[in-house]
Amino acid sequence: MTEIETFRAEVRQWLEADCPPSMRTPITSSEEMVSGGSHISFRSEEQRLWFERMRDRGWFAPGWPKVYGGGGLSPREQRALEQEMLALGCRQPQYNLGIWMLGPVLLEIGTEEQKLEHLPRMARGEVRWCQGFSEPNAGSDLASLRTAAVLDGDAYVINGQKIWTSHGDKADWMYALVRTDPQAKKQLGISFILLDMKSPGVTVRPIELISGKSEFCEVFFDNVRVPAKNVLGGVNQGWGVAKKLLDHERAAMSKFSEGGAPSLDALAVAAPYLVEAGPVWRDRMAGALMDQHAFALSVRRLNEMALAREDVAGLSSIMKLVQTEQESAKYELLQQLMGQRGLSPEGEGFAAEEQAVCRLWLYTKSYTIAGGASEIQLNIIARRVLGLPT
Ligand SMILES: Cc1cc2nc3c(=O)[nH]c(=O)nc-3n(C[C@H](O)[C@H](O)[C@H](O)COP(=O)(O)OP(=O)(O)OC[C@H]3O[C@@H](n4cnc5c(N)ncnc54)[C@H](O)[C@@H]3O)c2cc1C
Repeated sequence: MTEIETFRAEVRQWLEADCPPSMRTPITSSEEMVSGGSHISFRSEEQRLWFERMRDRGWFAPGWPKVYGGGGLSPREQRALEQEMLALGCRQPQYNLGIWMLGPVLLEIGTEEQKLEHLPRMARGEVRWCQGFSEPNAGSDLASLRTAAVLDGDAYVINGQKIWTSHGDKADWMYALVRTDPQAKKQLGISFILLDMKSPGVTVRPIELISGKSEFCEVFFDNVRVPAKNVLGGVNQGWGVAKKLLDHERAAMSKFSEGGAPSLDALAVAAPYLVEAGPVWRDRMAGALMDQHAFALSVRRLNEMALAREDVAGLSSIMKLVQTEQESAKYELLQQLMGQRGLSPEGEGFAAEEQAVCRLWLYTKSYTIAGGASEIQLNIIARRVLGLPT
């Protein structure tokens, strides 16, 4: 056996022995996801065990160097681990923006002090991060953001507001975009800063949604002092840092089909309905599943290209767009196929998987907005990938 085959076989053996059975079932609701940080909670003993076992191997961040708390795996080993987890249906042990998005950027451009302060705690799931980008008048047009940071001695004083901050009420730290030069052209006056949510002057208010549940918050800054050393990537260089981070966000979202988000075995759920439904429905479902399969193959091809050090930058927008639109269309189809059985996210008289279809149908709609709406991805693809004129 080659080295990588030996590694793969060992990983499989370990996963078979150490990934508890209940952690090998699909997650059908975001409430079943574990997020690290000081507010961490587990729904079962098996969930806690799985979290701790993966953490102790450094496999929350398998590809990061060991000195920063990662697993020290090579890209090929990391991919083998991902594939083996996928093959066994293992759940992600934790979901943390720190690991997915901020960590890779810190690794690339952080100072040694910043890396040592944040990466090991992130890799142990001790700190939960939230993203402070969007503002009431700066969503798609993010560069219009107005939250101001003014240098005062060795700290920036921050005033302003963020919105749609997912889990802002449970986060320990935020990475945020702030305006450090109000005179400069929009994109050139922005800095990327790391701030402790316990800092005096930070107020977090959950946003109530019609469902009664919400992961969204508004975050207000009232003279919040943040050490100047917490700027990542240089003062007024934040736009470039944000673009790097959004690339990682989109790449992470494009891997949702690999167990990165709540999902269902669509065919198993659809099968009883397809027996009764006509050939048109079967054809549509087959099309959706083929799209899903083709997408998985494209992810594999991209991974191989990345391993071969080919340039895959910019492709994350294509993958994010296709993945989120496909997932949304798949659940739309399932929901239509099930008729009124697929219309209740909770309540008596509906089977668990029927409720899950409805929840996921609603949830996947948000995927096409979060991380930059589909229209914005199309704009990015036109400019960055195809080089079309603006
Ligand atoms: C589930 C979810 C989680 C989120 N979490 C966070 C978070 O943690 N932190 C954070 O900072 N933000 C978060 N957001 C906010 C998200 O980044 C914004 O919602 C998104 O960027 C769109 O901005 P907007 O809501 O202001 O919509 P708008 O920018 O007002 O867009 C409205 C519509 O107009 C279209 N549009 C806008 N401009 C153009 C254009 N130039 N060309 C073509 N069409 C255009 C858009 O595509 C969209 O359909 C989250 C959003 C969702 C749905």
